[in-house]
Amino acid sequence: MTQILKAKQVVEQGIEELSKKCNQLKKWGITPYMKVLLVGENPASQIYTRNKKRYIEKLGAKCDIIHLPDSLSESDFIFEVGKMVSDQAVHGCFVQLPLPDQLSHIDVGELIPPSKDVDGFHQNNLIGVLNGDCGEKVLLSCTPKGILTLLRHYNIEVAGKHVVIIGRSMIVGKPLAMLLTNHHATVTICHSKTQNLEKITSQADIIIAAIGRAKMIGVKHLSSSGNQVIVDVGMNQDENGKLCGDVDFAAVSERVQAITPVPGGVGPMTILSLAENLFQAAREQFEQQEINP
Ligand code: NDP
Repeated sequence: MTQILKAKQVVEQGIEELSKKCNQLKKWGITPYMKVLLVGENPASQIYTRNKKRYIEKLGAKCDIIHLPDSLSESDFIFEVGKMVSDQAVHGCFVQLPLPDQLSHIDVGELIPPSKDVDGFHQNNLIGVLNGDCGEKVLLSCTPKGILTLLRHYNIEVAGKHVVIIGRSMIVGKPLAMLLTNHHATVTICHSKTQNLEKITSQADIIIAAIGRAKMIGVKHLSSSGNQVIVDVGMNQDENGKLCGDVDFAAVSERVQAITPVPGGVGPMTILSLAENLFQAAREQFEQQEINP
C-alpha cells in the first residue's frame, strides 16, 4: 500500500524539540527573536507572515512583523531592512516575498546578513552548501531542508538513489540539488527546456516536483515498478480554486511506494525549517558572543 508522507507527526515532534530548546536558551538568557518585513497588502503574504509569527510564538520564541505600505520607496525599503538587520536583539529575519513592483528587482537575499538569514537565501549560506555543508555551519534553505527532514523521518534513504528534481529555482530546485548531492544522492535537475521529461522521471527512484503547475506530473511520468517516491513541492490552485500540488495525486498515488500530500506535506515542513533555522541562528550568535564578548 502507498505510504502517504504526511508532515503532521514530524512537525509535532519538531515543535516539542524546539520548545525544549527554547526553554534551554531562555535559561541562558536568550529568547530567540525573529523579525519579518512585510510590504504591501498581498493577502497571501499577510496570511503567511501571520502564520509564521503564530508558529514561532507557540514555541516560546518572539516574532514581530514590520508591516510597511505598498508605496514604499526603494531608499525607505533599504533603510527599513538595515534597521531590522542591525537590531542586536534580533537573531533571524527575512523579507516576505513577493515585493511590490517598484522593489521587485532587489535581491533581498543579500540584504540580510548570513548569520541572521533564516530563509537560507544568502550566497554565503548557499556557497556553504555548495562546499558540502549539510546545515552544520550554514543556515539551509527552508524547503530543501524540510524535504530532507521529512524523508529522514520516514526512513527514505537518499544516498545512492537517483533523484530527479523538476524545477531549478534558487529557493527550491538548485539548493535542493546541492543538499541531496551532499547526502550522496545522484541528482538530475529538469526544467522547462528539458526534453523527454517523462523518460527521465521514469528512471528516478525519487521524483521531486517544484514546478508551480497544477497536477502536471501524472502516470506517464512514472516507471512501472511501483517503487518510486514522489515529493510534491507545488502549491497551486485547481480548477475549483482548491489548493493542489504539481502532481496529480489521485492518479499517481496508487502507483508509487510513497508520496507527499498537498496540503499537509512539504508546506508545513518549510515552516518547521524556518523555526529550526531561527533557533540555530540564536544559538550560534550566543556562542559567538561568548567567544568574542
Ligand atoms: P519557479 O517559478 O521559480 O520555478 C519553477 C521551475 O519549474 C522552473 O525551473 C521552471 O523551468 C520549471 N518548469 C516550469 N514549467 C515546466 C515544465 N513544463 N516542465 C518542466 N519544468 C518546468 O517556482 P518555485 O521554485 O518558486 O516554486 C515551485 C512551486 O513550489 C510553486 O508551486 C510554489 O508555490 C511551490 N513552493 C512551495 C513551497 C512549500 O513550502 N511547499 C515553498 C516554495 C515554493 P525554467 O527554469 O526553465 O523556467
